Amino acid sequence: MNKDYKFVDQAIEELLPKVKEAGLDTVWDRFKSMQPQCGFGELGICCRICWKGPCRIDPFGNGSQRGICGADAHTIVARNLIRGIAAGAAAHSDHGRHIALTLLEVAEGHAPAYCIKDEKKLMSVAARLGLSTEGKNVRQVAKEVALATLEDFSRQNSSIPCSWARQTMTAERAEKLTALGVMPHNIDAVVAGIMNRTHVGCDADPVNLLLGGLKGALADYTGMYLSTELSDVIFGTPEPVITTANLGVLKEDAVNIAVHGHNPLLSEIICDVAGSMDEEARQAGAKEGINIVGVCCTGNEVMARRGIPLATNYLSQEMAVLTGAVDAMVVDVQCIMPSLGVLQECYHTQLITTMATNKIPGAVHVEFTEKTALEDARRVVELAIEAYKRRDKNKINIPQYKETAIVGFSAEAVFAALSKLNKEDPLKPLLDNIVNGNIQGVALFAGCSTTRVAQDHNFVTIARELARHNVLLLATGCGAGAFAKLGLMTQEATEAYAGDSLKAVLTAVGEAAGLNGPLPLVLHMGSCVDNTRAVTVATALANKLGVDLDKLPVVASAPEAMSEKAVAIGTWAVTLGIPTHLGIIPQVTGSSLVTEVLTDKLKDLVGGYFIVETDPLRAAGKLYEVIRERRKALGI
Ligand code: SF4
Ligand code: SF4
Repeated sequence: MNKDYKFVDQAIEELLPKVKEAGLDTVWDRFKSMQPQCGFGELGICCRICWKGPCRIDPFGNGSQRGICGADAHTIVARNLIRGIAAGAAAHSDHGRHIALTLLEVAEGHAPAYCIKDEKKLMSVAARLGLSTEGKNVRQVAKEVALATLEDFSRQNSSIPCSWARQTMTAERAEKLTALGVMPHNIDAVVAGIMNRTHVGCDADPVNLLLGGLKGALADYTGMYLSTELSDVIFGTPEPVITTANLGVLKEDAVNIAVHGHNPLLSEIICDVAGSMDEEARQAGAKEGINIVGVCCTGNEVMARRGIPLATNYLSQEMAVLTGAVDAMVVDVQCIMPSLGVLQECYHTQLITTMATNKIPGAVHVEFTEKTALEDARRVVELAIEAYKRRDKNKINIPQYKETAIVGFSAEAVFAALSKLNKEDPLKPLLDNIVNGNIQGVALFAGCSTTRVAQDHNFVTIARELARHNVLLLATGCGAGAFAKLGLMTQEATEAYAGDSLKAVLTAVGEAAGLNGPLPLVLHMGSCVDNTRAVTVATALANKLGVDLDKLPVVASAPEAMSEKAVAIGTWAVTLGIPTHLGIIPQVTGSSLVTEVLTDKLKDLVGGYFIVETDPLRAAGKLYEVIRERRKALGI
């Protein structure tokens, strides 16, 4: 653990000394003052599940080997792990439920701010869910899709799997997971089931608990998949768009509104109304009107669909406020640091919470509802303009760093680009190039950023190394944010870092798609909830090849993982058969049994497994080795 690292993001490096001069704390200062962090917690061997505890197991074998109730290290670690998975699944699926309920409101005419922007996608979703669309208008289909989706949150018959899980993976995978008893039938019931079985005095069998964790992770997958697809229906499916990223996207002469969190329901409407309020901003003295920027995954959502510039990703969210140029930080759900409420006391920035379940001391709360979204969005922009008038020009410090980023590669956008090479069979060019070795394999980068490593460093190091070995790179979430900020979503990066055969393929596709050059080195697939876009591509490839997902030369990496959502995502990736790298030691190593299951035994069960490697170059080597092994097994 290096607490005095240098940042690869020069904007952070430049701003930090000025923050220190002002005597303010950042996430990195608090990380330092938290040292040494609790070793029991790091190993996962502490338990606070009941009030006889907290209990902790002595990892050296000298002290207690069982909690007061008799739970051993394996039970405690497994329980802690799957509770994290349940929390991740709850976060993603509640987001998904919110989108599905909004679709229902749109269909019933109760949400005037919204419409169905992608009818084609709506129809393809309906077909996937087995719904007939014949003779029905768009609203009727939307209502049926919303109701069928909500059944995945309410079905009581546990022998019927969630539609959004069953219909989105290979048939072979669905059968395997059903036979294992880990296919979810009802997202909420699975989350509740984990909380139930981990209550004091319930499931104590670590392997049984871990199987419950796989089911919880697939509930997470289900919630994520439906969230992404229905968001596309309402807001449009992303297509490639050129934008910019890093703190230099903030403008000194504009009212800067940062949208932060994960759920696009309000941020999309803020983007809609901002244009009509530009004049009000100018009258307040902002010569350049209103400038909306993104932070974290709400940032990824509006960047992918609208080309809204990204200010920064998760770990450096405080830096946006510390530029002194953000007039309003508008937050919805997840990954919002409570410290923003403290920092805004030293700056003019107005922190605005918008969701009833996500309030922060110090913030102004503008309660968002789908019915009043237009009024809510206007209120948010008004608050930003009022805050702009309070700005202290002497405190403005915008690091002048920003990079071009070509973003918005949904699965549909990838297929559309490939169709320029082969209209009848768009997947064929990709498959041919994988089979002939021009593309060695595919790596999906996902997950957060964390204080445990120099922010963004692992992402960039592993990506460059894999690209050199002709591995096609996809990214979501704060990993995507890192690549966007640091110039890896550009054609220049492809020229600089891609191996020769990968470069040739990216150039052929990019030229055919009218980009006048190659595709960017890393394809931006959206926010962290959008990881399922990569599964769409992988499942299409697997089906075309006639193999299951666990045979594909496809890997995933969460090199700076942090949140419970990342734990859930990594676990479903593994459950789908995808070897998944973690660049952070997971809080499970206090149990040799749990560690062995996750890193080894799962391979026999589901094909996927976790690869834990904190050194990014060695991690890239291990991921490439897995790709080579899978190619060999396929005979290619
Ligand atoms: S509850 Fe666990 S992580 Fe927290 S201080 Fe106690 S032993 Fe450490
Ligand atoms: S459930 Fe058992 S191990 Fe956990 S705190 Fe209670 S007594 Fe301790």
